[in-house]
Amino acid sequence: MLQYISNTGGGAPVDFETAILDGFAIDGGLYVPERLPKISNQQLNDWKNLGYVDLAFEILSLFIDRSIVSEKELKTLLEEAYTSFEKEEIIPIYPLSSRKDTYIMELFYGPTISFKDIGLAFLVNLVNFFLERKEEHLSVIVATTGDTGPATAYFAAGKSNLDAWVLYPKDKITEEQERQMTTLPHSNIHPVGVSNCPDGGDDLDLVISKLYANKRFKDKLKLSSVNSINWGRVMMQTVHYFHGYFQVVNTIGERVHMSVPSGGFGNLCAGALARKMGLPITTLIAANNKNACLHRIFSEGVFSKQNIFETESSAIDILVPYNFWRYLYFSVDEDAEKIKVWINEFKKTGLVHFDVETFENYRKGFLSYSASDTQTLSVIKEVYEAEGYMLDPHGAVAVVATDILRPQLGKGKVICLATAHPSKFPESIKEVLGTDELPEAAKHHSIEKAKSRCEKVHLCDHSHLEEALMDAMEQNWNLTKGIKA
Ligand SMILES: *Cc1c(COP(=O)(O)O)cnc(C)c1O
Repeated sequence: MLQYISNTGGGAPVDFETAILDGFAIDGGLYVPERLPKISNQQLNDWKNLGYVDLAFEILSLFIDRSIVSEKELKTLLEEAYTSFEKEEIIPIYPLSSRKDTYIMELFYGPTISFKDIGLAFLVNLVNFFLERKEEHLSVIVATTGDTGPATAYFAAGKSNLDAWVLYPKDKITEEQERQMTTLPHSNIHPVGVSNCPDGGDDLDLVISKLYANKRFKDKLKLSSVNSINWGRVMMQTVHYFHGYFQVVNTIGERVHMSVPSGGFGNLCAGALARKMGLPITTLIAANNKNACLHRIFSEGVFSKQNIFETESSAIDILVPYNFWRYLYFSVDEDAEKIKVWINEFKKTGLVHFDVETFENYRKGFLSYSASDTQTLSVIKEVYEAEGYMLDPHGAVAVVATDILRPQLGKGKVICLATAHPSKFPESIKEVLGTDELPEAAKHHSIEKAKSRCEKVHLCDHSHLEEALMDAMEQNWNLTKGIKA
């Protein structure tokens, strides 16, 4: 049976179900599979014509033991998860006409129109499935830079065995994103708008880790997390790399490049693992905005925390790309001791300078770039004017990085991952086009609908978030438990 272990080496191996329900490993590390499955060219050939859900079934079957989720259960969970997606292909590919051999992978046709829907649609379903089976109730708590919150809230809404607490930095996400969380009527969804977060979403993560560390509270409320530290998210996100690959290549074995707008490195970690499993990707581009932690990691060999900048691509205004540690584990021959030392060093000093050998190893097959807002907005404008196609600011960051790094890529098609629908960022689009009227390409019916609903939200100041949140969560727990008892 494939077991899961902590990338910092603590605790005993656990089964898949435990890894998913725990979120973090017992020593605070991230769960990784004991070994990565390898995929042969024959398998790639067998899979190349599968639809997204069937492909996901094949790939997930390599990670999930049948004794934990049966073949039939896995099929049903996957089918249910993706019925709410707008396009039959789930993740369509759009070939740009303004650039040669460049494709946009549209990851935003889920119900909250960002790529977070891809991982969370399945993960939230799976968590609820495990809880129903165990007859247990969990509180999931996530912090969001704009898109995790809406997707978590959407998929958790009305789920029998879950309460979802979604924390967001007030005034640092768009009104459209906020309304996606606050206009759901379900009693198990609890959005929390937090004012005065100097470091944005990172501030909220800090409070969440304090709640985790509080054993009495964690055990009483059965805290769990579906944020991108959860293995289920990364596992699910490996699928779209395969899916996108099959859609653009002429023959299996053809090598491609992929450019990914990155914040927490969850999406890219999945891409890097897909490549290690055998997917022929030559270069993965870590596309940052001005918050360039990943760019520093890949160009200088330095993992450092700096001050945050607010940018047009706000979902990747992230200071600490936590999933990098998960990828790094596989780049240092699965040496958990090393990861532990680096993480501790980073926690203490906010800075890790990798040795040359480590740096050379992990950067193999990676390029990076830090795109400015000016570059981001001008590429949106240029592509829209050239071919009527509207990028969102995150997809645009991926395209900017591709344009700049193209000469270094050599041969091969490039797939740029577009992670949100432009209608989530209307102010950026208006600025780009110099108009107050949004074109149809920047509108979406779900966003329009949410404008006429009333909002339900807890409001809180960052200075007393921890106490206020514990209080609200405990009250809710006692209330619902009283009803259920
Ligand atoms: C979350 C998010 C990202 C970044 O994904 P990571 O896995 O954190 O790197 C990029 N774009 C959008 C629109 C997002 O919501």
